[in-house]
Amino acid sequence: MPSSVEQFPIELWLKIFSYLEAHDLVKAFDNLNSYFRSILASHKLRLHVEINSKDIENTLSTTSIWSIIPLESIRLLTAQTSQSNLIVEFLLSNSSHLKHLTFLDLDVKSTYIKPLASILVNLVCIKTFSLREIQEVMNEEDKTNIFPCILRMHSLKQCILDLSSSKFLSTSATEQDNQPVNQTIKQLCINIGIKAEFFLFLIRHLLHVRLLRLQHLFWSESVYSLQGSLQSNIVAIVIGTANISFINLQRLIQTNPHLRCLHIIDWHMRDSDDKDALLDGRLHRLLDGIACIYVGTVLEAWDTEQDEMRAQITARSWLKHTKNVQCASNMPVHDRVIIIGGSIGGMMVAACLSKYFKRIAIIESDNVLNETLHKSKPDQIFDYRCRLANPASIGRSGVGQIYQIHVLQNIEWLGIDRFTLETAMRKELCLQFGNQTEWITNARLVELIADRSANVVHGTKYRLKDSSSSLDIYGNFIIDCTGRNTSSTKWLKESLNLIVPTVQMHFGCGYVTFVGERFKTGDSSLDSKPIYFSNANVPDNNTGCYISPVRTLKSTDENSLGILSTIAVNCVNAEYPPNDSYENLLDWSKEHLDRDFTVILNSTKLCSPLVSHHRAIDDRKYVESLGKKWPRNYILLGDAMCAFNPQIGQGMTHAFRHARELRKIFDEHQYSLKDIFYIFNRRASKISEECWLASTANDWKTPTLKVIKTDTNGNIQTYQQTGDSNSIQYPRPRIPFIIKFLQWYNYWFLRCASKSEKLSTEFLLVANQNCSLFILMKPITFFQVCQTALTHYLHLSRY
Ligand SMILES: Cc1cc2nc3c(=O)[nH]c(=O)nc-3n(C[C@H](O)[C@H](O)[C@H](O)COP(=O)(O)OP(=O)(O)OC[C@H]3O[C@@H](n4cnc5c(N)ncnc54)[C@H](O)[C@@H]3O)c2cc1C
Repeated sequence: MPSSVEQFPIELWLKIFSYLEAHDLVKAFDNLNSYFRSILASHKLRLHVEINSKDIENTLSTTSIWSIIPLESIRLLTAQTSQSNLIVEFLLSNSSHLKHLTFLDLDVKSTYIKPLASILVNLVCIKTFSLREIQEVMNEEDKTNIFPCILRMHSLKQCILDLSSSKFLSTSATEQDNQPVNQTIKQLCINIGIKAEFFLFLIRHLLHVRLLRLQHLFWSESVYSLQGSLQSNIVAIVIGTANISFINLQRLIQTNPHLRCLHIIDWHMRDSDDKDALLDGRLHRLLDGIACIYVGTVLEAWDTEQDEMRAQITARSWLKHTKNVQCASNMPVHDRVIIIGGSIGGMMVAACLSKYFKRIAIIESDNVLNETLHKSKPDQIFDYRCRLANPASIGRSGVGQIYQIHVLQNIEWLGIDRFTLETAMRKELCLQFGNQTEWITNARLVELIADRSANVVHGTKYRLKDSSSSLDIYGNFIIDCTGRNTSSTKWLKESLNLIVPTVQMHFGCGYVTFVGERFKTGDSSLDSKPIYFSNANVPDNNTGCYISPVRTLKSTDENSLGILSTIAVNCVNAEYPPNDSYENLLDWSKEHLDRDFTVILNSTKLCSPLVSHHRAIDDRKYVESLGKKWPRNYILLGDAMCAFNPQIGQGMTHAFRHARELRKIFDEHQYSLKDIFYIFNRRASKISEECWLASTANDWKTPTLKVIKTDTNGNIQTYQQTGDSNSIQYPRPRIPFIIKFLQWYNYWFLRCASKSEKLSTEFLLVANQNCSLFILMKPITFFQVCQTALTHYLHLSRY
């Protein structure tokens, strides 16, 4: 009798097996029974094969797993071994069977490049090819061998050449003309220096390349003579180190008229002409048409001039999004928008709506536009120790919050710390939209001016900090961006008698964050970790530390790892890590954290003050459930709508996505101003729900979690999770299934991600909010997590 699993359609098994590695699959299913054996022998199977140095001869012999599964099933082949001869021989003798191979990732010694080149043209399905050369320096002949063959691979879409031990990849002008032209490659990444001539060669021969990523670009003046009328389809260029002057950058941009994203990690801009171009605004004008620009290090690392430039360029590229708005007429159609709260969300939405409102009023309680901002020199403005008079502002200035944005798939994430971004955005907003924008700073909103019968908010009352009387301001549309400590529910109750249903989670969690430069610890395995996952945020142990790189920097000290990171030290419940001094934090960490973290912390140089935060609250307002009861020209945006523990950097992205969504609604030109709230509330709630779910899945497990629910009638229910002395007063909350599942999933995800580079990359993608948070749930990631979790559980120890 077949068991019930054997009654599954075979297609389902084929699908499931396609997520598993071939060796694991054979080990797990071959000896099970004849049913599974027949599936393994099926020609419909599509498999992933990993070959590593261990037991390679056995793996590649035809008596190994290939006697059980057909070679035709191999879809992805990854080989990391120093025995390149065996791999090349294997490919050579079996290329006619590898009909479905779409992904090939190899380590190959340069001596084998030539035979490999002859094989590649026969592998007709390859879509992604990645070559990592090891040990030997490539000679000129090998270098010229590899490129023509890539040009002939007519199904190739993505190619990565990591030829790091060679110095340059170049081709002479005479050779170029005889080369074929490739119409399929969309992404090309070369991890080796290339000269300007070769850059032009690439553009000429790769007609459809959209993303070009080069480790080094050596651009000499001779390029002008070659340039001619050459134009590419490239939309994104990422350059590791660029010896590129302003004038050459100008050429680069002219050559690539479709360029939307330029990412230069190290920009050696040493010339005085270059600095002049920066100071007199030519550089900014040049970059004007490019939507996303990121410059990592310019001039010498960590110097103030470079910081200012980086911030200006990045802020400009942010606000740049607004320029692309298509408007029916060139004149704004509405009179005034009032934005309450002038932080990330407030500023972004101001820029987004600048085409639609003649006047923008921003009411901000902090003294953010003070004289210091206007008068300070760059080194003072970008000092982490904020100069704002109000000590409450330290949270904004000191926290090493990173805003991350993922501009295009496969481009590295862009990271900038929050203070730099916020300050730069503020300056930029003044520069770009200064005539339209009226900042009212040092002023707290105290009340809404509303008409209950029409369900409309006409304006707001605010009070300047040094005055006891309040002032009125009126507008057509009011956007509340007052953040996590917003009083919006109070204002709505008082002015419109509206009760907003909410769920609040109070969880006893504390952490200290700071920005630090990492130095060598003496343990190379610790030093090589770009992202260090920790035991913070896992259900069984919630004390820990995590480190995420902000950017690379050049340091004269050879012990520096050249990484600037945000470091967070976590603790659950009452015992918050001490924040009075770094020394105390180190002492505390010795007692409470794993040794590895203490070792890393000990060898980190502090670059910002320590900022501590106690007791986070997740607060979700279900405004969408109020439908048309909601006031007609008033919306909540960013943290004011939904605040959560931004454990994977989703906080600022959330506000930014809300602002973008609102702009999109205005762009659609279908709705009158009084209907926009309804559309926005529904769409924005979906964005909030994603971020909220990811955070609450995590928060729910903290022992002192308290949940307060308010329904539309104002009835309040309070729950307390068991695990501390107050628990008797409250019934135990029922954890929704989705949260339970996400909790389990997050737990394993963090565990597995720390062991697998692939998953860590997925994690970064999520942290960058390229797509939805639910990218983590996509089948391949899901199966990888399940597989790694199972492997751990059964102690099969693949890692
Ligand atoms: C400790 C900590 C670490 C974080 N780390 C990250 C991170 O690494 N990555 C990330 O993406 N996010 C992070 N976040 C979250 C992120 O800071 C917020 O999600 C983001 O700033 C929300 O933007 P916002 O504009 O909605 O609100 P906020 O940035 O909170 O801005 C609200 C503004 O409104 C003003 N305001 C408040 N009340 C009034 C009033 N009555 N009148 C006038 N003005 C008022 C405030 O002064 C403030 O300027 C972190 C948050 C905290 C607290």
